[in-house]
Amino acid sequence: MRILVCIKQVPASSRVEVDPVTGVLKRDGADAKMNPYDLFALETAFSLREICGGEVTVLTMGPPQAQAIIREAYAMGADKGILLSDRAFAGADVLATAYAISCGAKSSGPYDLILCGKQTTDGDTAQVGSEIAEVLGLPSLANVLSLAPDTDGALAVTMDMGDSVLNASVKLPCLISVDKDICQPRLPSYIKKKATADREITVLGFSDLESADKNRCGLGGSPTQVGRIFPPEKNDSREMWEGSDAELADRMLKKLTEEKFI
Ligand code: FAD
Repeated sequence: MRILVCIKQVPASSRVEVDPVTGVLKRDGADAKMNPYDLFALETAFSLREICGGEVTVLTMGPPQAQAIIREAYAMGADKGILLSDRAFAGADVLATAYAISCGAKSSGPYDLILCGKQTTDGDTAQVGSEIAEVLGLPSLANVLSLAPDTDGALAVTMDMGDSVLNASVKLPCLISVDKDICQPRLPSYIKKKATADREITVLGFSDLESADKNRCGLGGSPTQVGRIFPPEKNDSREMWEGSDAELADRMLKKLTEEKFI
């Protein structure tokens, strides 16, 4: 089975600075790591490879330093790595990100299965997977809790539907976004890290993508524009009340009513 796993580099800390002029996250110099939810997609791919054979390719769209997470994926067992990196992709919103990744998948594929994480810990929209499927015209399932080879080139899938669980069979090729409860990701191996230290990473720029439309990439291809990113204002104001228990209870009731909590 030819499996593509989409992985994203995210800030390692939740304390990320915002550029006060551009309103964009300051990613340069910030510690970075693989999006934790993508580890589950990667582990799922390894399990399927163990059952069906084949190859696991990882793809990330990001700046050159995002190669670090491809190296990490190699140290976990990925066979091939692709970095989509070009100024033409900069400033991409979810739609333009999904479009560029789809073009990268088309140019480097074909793949039987594309796996994504549930969401990222920075952008957090949980939309990229479904949008890649839409661009590629693939069936797409999200919040997948388990997946196993089924008959006739299909996968048997269990999906978390919120208040119910759905069992489905989906034909390959398809795109699946996995839930974090699907498996226990393995740790990178020092031996694999040493063995893959010289393994090539394919870097694809815009001109390497087959019949890609520049108008659908980067800032120009992004219908959403960030107005401003800012930390929410903190309200540290407090009141000290004194009085008998009955007075304080009355006052509390009045206050909660005024503030429309009750
Ligand atoms: P989700 O939808 O939460 O991710 C779901 C899954 O999709 C992930 O688990 C992973 O498997 C896959 N995935 C997501 N992103 C990638 C990726 N890049 N490569 C491979 N797989 C992936 N971000 C910047 O870094 N620089 C910018 O200049 C920038 N400009 C933006 C401008 C606008 C107007 C907007 C709206 C967003 C901008 N972003 C920018 C954020 C960027 O659009 C998102 O990071 C990106 O679309 C991914 O969305 P997400 O993080 O919500 O992913």
